[in-house]
Amino acid sequence: MDGVPTPLRCFRECHSAELFIDDGVETVTSVEQKKVERSIGEVTSVYKQAHSTAQPTLLQDQHYQYLKKGLRHLSDAYECLDASRPWLCFWILHSLELLEEPIPSAVATDVCQFLARCQSPTGGFAGGPGQHAHLAPTYAAVNALCVIGTEEAYNVIDREKLLDFLWSVKQPDGSFVMHIGGEVDVRSAYCAASVASLTNILTPKLFEDTTNWILRCQNWEGGLSGVPGLEAHGGYTFCGTAALVILGNEHMLDLKALLRWVVSRQMRFEGGFQGRCNKLVDGCYSFWQAGILPLLHRALFKEGESELSRQRWMFDQQALQEYILLCCQNPIGGLLDKPGKSRDFYHTCYCLSGLSIAQHFGNKDLHHEMILGGEENRLAPTHPVYNICPDKVAQALQHFHRLPVPEDKRQPGAPADDRQSDPDAASNSQS
Ligand SMILES: [Zn+2]
Repeated sequence: MDGVPTPLRCFRECHSAELFIDDGVETVTSVEQKKVERSIGEVTSVYKQAHSTAQPTLLQDQHYQYLKKGLRHLSDAYECLDASRPWLCFWILHSLELLEEPIPSAVATDVCQFLARCQSPTGGFAGGPGQHAHLAPTYAAVNALCVIGTEEAYNVIDREKLLDFLWSVKQPDGSFVMHIGGEVDVRSAYCAASVASLTNILTPKLFEDTTNWILRCQNWEGGLSGVPGLEAHGGYTFCGTAALVILGNEHMLDLKALLRWVVSRQMRFEGGFQGRCNKLVDGCYSFWQAGILPLLHRALFKEGESELSRQRWMFDQQALQEYILLCCQNPIGGLLDKPGKSRDFYHTCYCLSGLSIAQHFGNKDLHHEMILGGEENRLAPTHPVYNICPDKVAQALQHFHRLPVPEDKRQPGAPADDRQSDPDAASNSQS
């Protein structure tokens, strides 16, 4: 493990040299940026007065209590997420596995039964019982079940029907819509590739032309947009890059342009990442942006790049840890976007996931830790493609690879119901 240099980066004399300079032109954006920098300056100076030498602490127990409560009871504020309930399961269960807190078997069973009720009779998972199947909760449900990692959890997933659902949202140009009649964007390609690869239903035909469609999302900035021709964005860039890694085609991206774009999204003063050029820092991009660096490291290594470090990712891992630990923790548990914002399970999951990426370099064979604030701050590593712990990925792959890949005669965009009345497809689904 690396010794982390003291004092903290944000305590150094030269840190104020990183403040934003507006070149004498004040805009709405520059005013907001300065406001955020001021609030972060206040947080660090209060911390400095209270702890002149100590290192920041991850409030493990407070986060654990907050997460544990969320599995059983949600406040009224979560009503708006009624169509994202499998996401709440994933955000909480993945946060718990990062904290290395075991999931009690009674809770695991309840989550399995709840997610089974979210599974659509025509395949895929919906945001809640009785709703329509959608790729985003499908991804969240499959990930949550793989985090649980029991036979009971794996058996919830109807793989034949999941494949039906994926075909029902596949478009002739290689893209996917999020749900039947819904919007296209690069999240859908990632959600589809992620669940198909984890459950061993990935067929070349299902992802025909998907690589070319994703490549069209990389724009002149170097990052990827939601659909071809728009602005590069951290969430979409992660999704597109991770989908290409699953499909084995990440080398077809302009990797150097992508590297330049993503490292430029780490904020000079704040240490965290912004989602797009000229936007404000936000804790959740600790994963969506920093999580791209392990994918890029591996891709450039495969390309024979000789200058790659064998100890560090290509972003400032200490600065990101300082931002998360000092600015994104609610003292009573849960993590958040930036100082002044409230905690929620989404930001808790993605701040912790980003913290894990910043603590752990490498993979199973080559591993190097850089933990700010001592061993008690250590999180479990996360898999940068699926964002669940690597042993849970291995376990799921092992389980589902014992099962045959369903025979695939399906066609893009055909509603699952039509195919069931087709005798060919019906006999296929019984095989
Ligand atoms: Zn956010």
